Amino acid sequence: MDRSNASGPVVGVLGIQGDIEKHLQALERLGARGRRVLGPRDLAGLVALILPGGESTTISKGLDRHDLVKPIREFAEAGGAILGTCAGAIVLSRASTNHPVPTLGLIDIEAERNAYGTQLDSFIAPVDPPGDPAATGGQEEWAGMECVFIRAPRLRRPGPSVEVLARVDAEPVLVRSGRIWACTFHPELTDDLRVHQAWLEGLRARSMPAGPPADPSADPDR
Ligand code: GLN
Repeated sequence: MDRSNASGPVVGVLGIQGDIEKHLQALERLGARGRRVLGPRDLAGLVALILPGGESTTISKGLDRHDLVKPIREFAEAGGAILGTCAGAIVLSRASTNHPVPTLGLIDIEAERNAYGTQLDSFIAPVDPPGDPAATGGQEEWAGMECVFIRAPRLRRPGPSVEVLARVDAEPVLVRSGRIWACTFHPELTDDLRVHQAWLEGLRARSMPAGPPADPSADPDR
């Protein structure tokens, strides 16, 4: 069942394991309708899907067990948007290192698991300030965003299709390849929902109906 009465897009949250509830709450706050996805049929009618943070070994095994690997790949091929956060980013990646897990290969990055250390090395840090485009991805829109890292991966060797949107200490922490976004921190754990919002805005732009035909009399050049 879809959550909330909002009339916004229906967005799935993979419900196998991890920080599912907080993502559903973030979606509700942004006026979208969230839906837990636990099997291929739950993908019907979705425009977008979140793979939450948690434990990528468990999530990856669960994808197999719930017969979701092929349907999620097909969902992405058909233009569905996906946001993978932390373990979700690992699962989305081309490959993972440091105790590799099977991945979906939907974004051209390599995820180095637990690259900052153990649970004790979890931390909160602000995105690098805007200014130097090489160091920050050149984006002002994330300025001051605090990022929660919990046994986070680092994103290595991004391919040419991958755009770095934000960095922390010069490391990419938010990247995108078209409608597929990967984020190494937990954007659902603070009140700052800029990541969800920007990703959802991309969907809204895409699903906007075509405007009325232009009125030729309004165009002085015609
Ligand atoms: N360390 C976890 C993994 O490799 C990810 C942690 C998280 O999602 N917060 O799967």
